[in-house]
Amino acid sequence: MREEPLFGKLTLVGLGLIGSSIARAARAHHAVHKIAALDSSPQVLARVRELKIVDDASGDLKQALEDADLVILCAPVGASGAIAREIAPHLRPGAILSDVGSVKGSVVKEVAPLLPRGVHFVPAHPLAGTEYSGPDAGFATLFKNRWCLLTPPEGENHAVEALAEFWKRLGARVEVTTPEHHDLALAITSHLPHLIAFNIVGTADHLEKVTEQEVIKFSASGFRDFTRIAASDPTMWRDVFLNNKEAVLEMLSRFNADLAALQRMIEEGDGKGLFDLFTRTRAIRRGVIEQGQDTAAPDFGRPHDGA
Ligand code: NAP
Repeated sequence: MREEPLFGKLTLVGLGLIGSSIARAARAHHAVHKIAALDSSPQVLARVRELKIVDDASGDLKQALEDADLVILCAPVGASGAIAREIAPHLRPGAILSDVGSVKGSVVKEVAPLLPRGVHFVPAHPLAGTEYSGPDAGFATLFKNRWCLLTPPEGENHAVEALAEFWKRLGARVEVTTPEHHDLALAITSHLPHLIAFNIVGTADHLEKVTEQEVIKFSASGFRDFTRIAASDPTMWRDVFLNNKEAVLEMLSRFNADLAALQRMIEEGDGKGLFDLFTRTRAIRRGVIEQGQDTAAPDFGRPHDGA
């Protein structure tokens, strides 16, 4: 049986990977009656019209926001303040404003003071993505079994419940936390791993001048998996590091201390220390698979039959 839509009209601002995936998933699960799209790029809106994934991609700000019950900002976090300033006068009292930004503290600080009374602000972050960008990269199942973290201010219980139901309808699992805790947790689980990937691929690129193409040729031996992460959207990631500076720097200093300890183990031939650490990290990978956060297939399921 088809479930009743949870909202009348959803307006998405920024129709890239995440925004276009929300549009597709909301349609697939009948989560809303109608979807409108806004984007700073006319080319993106033209493509969204071609893809037919929303009802209104005319780009008319007033029309897109008129009667919107739920508005979700899906642009890079650095643009959140400017977008909120532009859309605030058009938000109706009672509407829920949310976002999907990978950093929460800075978004809350910039957006919350700009909103008219009666608009319920419930920031969110779906922990789902790929290294691709743009409206063609999105897909309806992106959020299935992924976590979506909500970081609401106090006293927004009704809006939090409504938004949680929306994300659950899209297939996600929902948890509520504070912006500060979110930013610290994501600094270690997402932001630092991306920083390390950007760095190692950059270092290898410098080295390639010495090794003459071997970096790419022999990339299957570990390097390849870093290149996938390091291919992520430059604008999005620039904004993440500029907006989660403190938490990332704190995690980076812990990382540097651990790396120095690892360096000492190698220098001192401490085989037991290395073996114990690698045993612990292997158990963490098993936990990730057991919780359904990745495939158990060897080599991430890549074909090895020459296909
Ligand atoms: P994306 O594919 O690059 O899409 C972003 C879209 O927003 C683009 O169409 C962009 O247009 C548009 N945009 C930029 N500035 C805008 C503005 N001022 N007003 C309206 N639209 C604007 O990026 P994404 O991967 O979907 O990421 C979007 C957000 O989701 C970011 O906040 C990111 O932190 C968060 N997020 C990303 C992932 C991930 O893995 N990718 C996962 C979870 C959350 P142009 O292309 O013309 O700039």
